[in-house]
Amino acid sequence: MRIQPFDYWAAPGLNEALNELDLHGADATVIAGGTDLVLNMKKKNILPRRVISLHNLNELDFVLTDESLDNDSVRIGALSKHADLAENPFLKQHFPILCEAVGLIGSWQIRNVGTIGGNICNASPAADSAPPLLVLDAQLVLASKKGEKKISLESFFTGPGATVLEPDQILKEIVIELPKQPSAGCYMKLRRRKAVDVSLAGVAFQAETGPDRKTLAKVGIALGGVAPTPVRVPEAEALLAGRTLDEAVTKISDCAEIAAKAASPIDDVRATASYRRTIINVFIQRCAQNVLNTLKNSGGD
Ligand SMILES: Cc1cc2nc3c(=O)[nH]c(=O)nc-3n(C[C@H](O)[C@H](O)[C@H](O)COP(=O)(O)OP(=O)(O)OC[C@H]3O[C@@H](n4cnc5c(N)ncnc54)[C@H](O)[C@@H]3O)c2cc1C
Repeated sequence: MRIQPFDYWAAPGLNEALNELDLHGADATVIAGGTDLVLNMKKKNILPRRVISLHNLNELDFVLTDESLDNDSVRIGALSKHADLAENPFLKQHFPILCEAVGLIGSWQIRNVGTIGGNICNASPAADSAPPLLVLDAQLVLASKKGEKKISLESFFTGPGATVLEPDQILKEIVIELPKQPSAGCYMKLRRRKAVDVSLAGVAFQAETGPDRKTLAKVGIALGGVAPTPVRVPEAEALLAGRTLDEAVTKISDCAEIAAKAASPIDDVRATASYRRTIINVFIQRCAQNVLNTLKNSGGD
C-alpha cells in the first residue's frame, strides 16, 4: 500500500497551524501521532494534498492541575499522549476511569505517540478515550483562525469517522469539571486475546454521590464499539440516578439489560452483534458493582 504524494509542513505553533488550515481548507489535514492518519492514507480513505504536522506544538501537550485550575476543572491539551495521561497523578486521583481507558489503548509503542486529540478526532466508534470522556461530561475547545468555540463531546461525533469539526478547526483542549462529591468510575473493554486491537465493545460507568454520600446524584453510562458513534445511555442512567447506593445495587441487572438493548452493534469478522450485546450486559454489571462498592467504601454506607 503506497501513500499518494503530499506536501508536508511542520507548524511551529498553533497560530501558524490555524493560518495554514485557513489557507488550504479541506485540501489539508493535520497529523498528531499519525497512528490513525497514516493507515487511513495508506488505505486511501483520506487523500490530503497537504499534511500539517502538530508535532512541535508543545503548547498543546499539558494537563493543567491544582495550581492552574480554571473553575474547578482540569484542562487536557489535545496533543497529550496516552502514555503520559495514563500515569498522570492528578488524573489518576480525580478521573481514574480515563487513565484506565487510555492505558488500554494499543501497545506501549502506540501509547507513546498516539494523542488523546487524535483518538477523539479520528472518531472511531471504538475509540477507548471516548466513553470515559462522555460520562465525565467533557467539553472540547475547538480553535480556528476566527477564534475558539466550546462544545460538548456528546455533540461532536456524527457517525463512524465523522465529526462536526470544520476543515479550518483544530481540537485544542478537553475540559472536564472536577467532581464536587465522592465519585468513582470504571472502564472495561473487550478485545481479541493476545492482540493489539481496538475494542470489540467497551463500557464506561461513572457515578458521583450527593453531599449525603449515600445517594447517587450523577450516573454516567457510555458504550463504545456497539453503535455508529460512542454513545451515552440516558435511560439506563436514569434507572440509578437519585437512588441510594443500596437501592442502586438491586437495580444493576435491570440497568445492564436496558443498556444492552439500547446498543446497536454489528456482526463482523471479530464478533457477532449478539455476543457484543451480551458483553455489554456483563460489563455494565461488573463496572456498576465495582463503582458502587468503591463509593460505599468511601463513606456511603
Ligand atoms: C496497532 C494499533 C492499535 C491501536 N489500538 C487502539 C486501541 O486499543 N484503542 C483505541 O482507541 N485506538 C487504537 N488505535 C488507534 C490510534 O492509535 C488512536 O486513535 C490514537 O489516539 C490516534 O492519535 P494520533 O495522535 O496518532 O492521531 P493521528 O493519526 O495523527 O490523527 C487521527 C485523526 O485525527 C485528526 N487530528 C489529530 N489531532 C487533531 C487535533 N488536535 N485537532 C483536529 N484534528 C486532529 C487527524 O487529522 C486525523 O484525521 C490503534 C492504532 C494502531 C495502529
